[in-house]
Amino acid sequence: SLFRHASFETSIAKPQGLPESSAPEIAFVGRSNAGKSSALNTLVGHNRLAFVSKTPGRTQLINFFRLPNGAALVDLPGYGYADVPESVRREWQELLERYLSQRRNVIGLVHIMDCRRPLTPLDRQLLDWFAPSGRPIHILLTKSDKLSRGPAAAALMEVRRQLPNWGDHLTAQLFSSLKKSGVEEVERVVGKWFDD
Ligand code: GDP
Repeated sequence: SLFRHASFETSIAKPQGLPESSAPEIAFVGRSNAGKSSALNTLVGHNRLAFVSKTPGRTQLINFFRLPNGAALVDLPGYGYADVPESVRREWQELLERYLSQRRNVIGLVHIMDCRRPLTPLDRQLLDWFAPSGRPIHILLTKSDKLSRGPAAAALMEVRRQLPNWGDHLTAQLFSSLKKSGVEEVERVVGKWFDD
């Protein structure tokens, strides 16, 4: 499977510190607390790989995980944390935007959203901002175990309905780190990005 045997490579706090690389990178983004760290851990199949920094106001890092095929999973700072000073929030936003706009080798975005609160204004802002690049975005509606089957399916349908129809370029699925469900679908979708 695609994501197994990922290994932690480095953490950086400033976009200037980005390692020089032309290897494909898959960027993981999402609102803080949406379940991004848990999803990364679930995808790579071990615990505490994407260690979590929960201290509000702390500078967040960009974490790199290297896959056996040479590509990297890149864990970007979560956004939307309510209790940080405006200056810190601006710093995170800048790091995120600098990375996403300057890295030519980002082949796609995995966008993490809580299935009970998808497509918040900040999520939409990021989608609108990244989408014109033409690179694919795959939305993981996490914590799907918190909803029963019907409501989870309805949440997915509603998100798909609200998204513009860009075919393969903008996709969405349910995911649960608790139940470890949805892993194969992520691997299938992201695996195709390597072939394009
Ligand atoms: P991040 O801030 O986006 O990295 O979010 P975390 O991965 O740290 O998760 C935030 C909270 O949601 C934690 O308390 C997790 O235990 C919980 N969580 C994350 N994923 C799931 C999931 O799939 N199911 C359930 N029930 N809880 C989850």
